Amino acid sequence: MISIIVKLLFTNSIVATVDLEKSIDQILACSDILGLDSEGHVPTICYEAAVGLTPNLRRGRRSIHQTPFQVPSMNQMCSSECKRYPRLIRIDFIEKYTNYVLSNELTSNPRQRRIDFIDIGSCAGTCQATFQHRNVHNKLIEYFLSEMLRRITSRAFRRAASNYVPIEDQMFGINEEQIELRYQFRKFFENELPESLLRDIDKNDDFPGLRDFLKTMGNMGLNGPGISEEYGAKDNPIKSAAIIGEELSRKSAAISMSYGAHNALNVRVLDANGSHEQKLKYLPDLISGEKIGALSMTEPTAGSDVMSMKTTAVQPAGKDYYVLNGNKYWITNGPVCDTLICYAKTDPTSNAGDSITAFIVDTDTEGFTANHIPEKMGMRGSPTGDLHFDNVKVPKENILLGEGAGAFVLMRGLNIERLLGAAMPVGIMQAVVDQSFPYAHERKQFGRPIGKFQLMQGKMAEMYSSLSACRAYTYSMLRSADQDPEAMSNHECASLIMFVSDACTKVALEGIQILGGNGYVNDYPVNRYMRDAKLMEIGAGTTEVRKVILGRYFNDYFLD
Ligand SMILES: Cc1cc2nc3c(=O)[nH]c(=O)nc-3n(C[C@H](O)[C@H](O)[C@H](O)COP(=O)(O)OP(=O)(O)OC[C@H]3O[C@@H](n4cnc5c(N)ncnc54)[C@H](O)[C@@H]3O)c2cc1C
Repeated sequence: MISIIVKLLFTNSIVATVDLEKSIDQILACSDILGLDSEGHVPTICYEAAVGLTPNLRRGRRSIHQTPFQVPSMNQMCSSECKRYPRLIRIDFIEKYTNYVLSNELTSNPRQRRIDFIDIGSCAGTCQATFQHRNVHNKLIEYFLSEMLRRITSRAFRRAASNYVPIEDQMFGINEEQIELRYQFRKFFENELPESLLRDIDKNDDFPGLRDFLKTMGNMGLNGPGISEEYGAKDNPIKSAAIIGEELSRKSAAISMSYGAHNALNVRVLDANGSHEQKLKYLPDLISGEKIGALSMTEPTAGSDVMSMKTTAVQPAGKDYYVLNGNKYWITNGPVCDTLICYAKTDPTSNAGDSITAFIVDTDTEGFTANHIPEKMGMRGSPTGDLHFDNVKVPKENILLGEGAGAFVLMRGLNIERLLGAAMPVGIMQAVVDQSFPYAHERKQFGRPIGKFQLMQGKMAEMYSSLSACRAYTYSMLRSADQDPEAMSNHECASLIMFVSDACTKVALEGIQILGGNGYVNDYPVNRYMRDAKLMEIGAGTTEVRKVILGRYFNDYFLD
């Protein structure tokens, strides 16, 4: 017996096995659906383009929804509408298509012949196909399979099968495992966060599923990057976490920001500065996603000048707790968090480094209240809080590193926030090119795709090289962080986040320009990308403050 195994390279999963002798009837029975004629020729109808696509009209604009796999009618197969939008086909379709046509019992026969289908999602991989010519039926199967393989591996089909501008991962020092991680999470986020949901989240500035989402991330071992398994984390290096953060930002920067605030601002700060007892008490629930974390330093009157904060923490004589009073503002996840890291003045008479202390606050403590800050321009759906402390009692044992160590904790936390945070602008920029580059090749003016005009080509070239420079810079810093997170210096982290955030806003604005009027309305997510991108220049220290850090570093280096 000779059989063919059809296998997806990146998931390593066998999607179909066909016994050449036994399955011929089944395949012939499908030949009308496959488009094979009696000679075994494949008609030119773009069958793939027809499957699963349902054009409909919405508010006068055309939108295409991808429906679950279905065998189309001949009319659908011939539909010019379907042919017009072939790029919406995705790899899951190929899996189902292949399964449908070739499904048969698995065999362990050593004479199996193998086809490795290319990963059309990331446009990487290799193909092999060997067939045994036994009889005319086998010849037909060979013809069909080679045709399918040819189509799948052709540049046109790969482009048609994916909305994405390819990422040349190998060029950026990403290993095979991380490439697979990116691929899997791209698929996962696509399924979990469909565009219709993201549009609603943006419109309503509300993501009711945030808690469940963080739990799902916890179940998959994606919370607590770089943290010991002793506290409930799974082996998840910082660089891999950043790739996942990048893919999440590519779908939704707002959700990524909440995920980042939970992990980089809270979980990692707790891990870096907490005692063993504190970590045992707080980290497992945060890492599993049972509890949501946040970090609060900014106040209404203390933003860039954070050391001038007014929230106080006073220890009553003879008591083993501190009493917190004050107001924190702009706190990501603040309205929904369970465990909050809060900086407060233990010496209100001073703005010196040792005047601040970092506390772990359980938000169900009496006297704590949190309100939503409404009407944000971007990052809508990531809850931002206005937090009030009215005689909130926090046990002394909840201090991180000791009284007066707050400024140290704060600066240490900012480094990792800036490092992991750099993956967000990279993800947003990738989303911008994913949307605007195909558009430039679909939209025609003066009788040609606008992408063929040199000014547009120049724009795309600059956007792409900015994205690539940011990706290379970010990944190289993350590689170092995986080796020794403590070795990352303030000025290097500030430089990285300044560079990628600045590039992100520019690339997002150019994305809007490519879409013209369509870039100016919410029908296309590119304007959301731009609104989200702008926050990258404000949160975790503004662009100007990042420049101040670099300027001070050079002054110290050359003048002291
Ligand atoms: C959506 C969102 C989420 C946030 N999440 C959090 C969070 O989770 N936790 C948290 O603690 N904070 C958070 N922040 C706060 C954020 O860190 C601050 O907004 C930021 O530090 C800037 O402070 P500010 O808004 O008070 O601006 P200001 O400090 O008032 O600055 C206003 C302008 O003056 C410039 N400026 C200030 N000082 C200087 C100087 N010395 N030299 C040159 N220019 C200067 C700034 O660059 C800026 O352009 C968040 C903010 C937003 C908008």
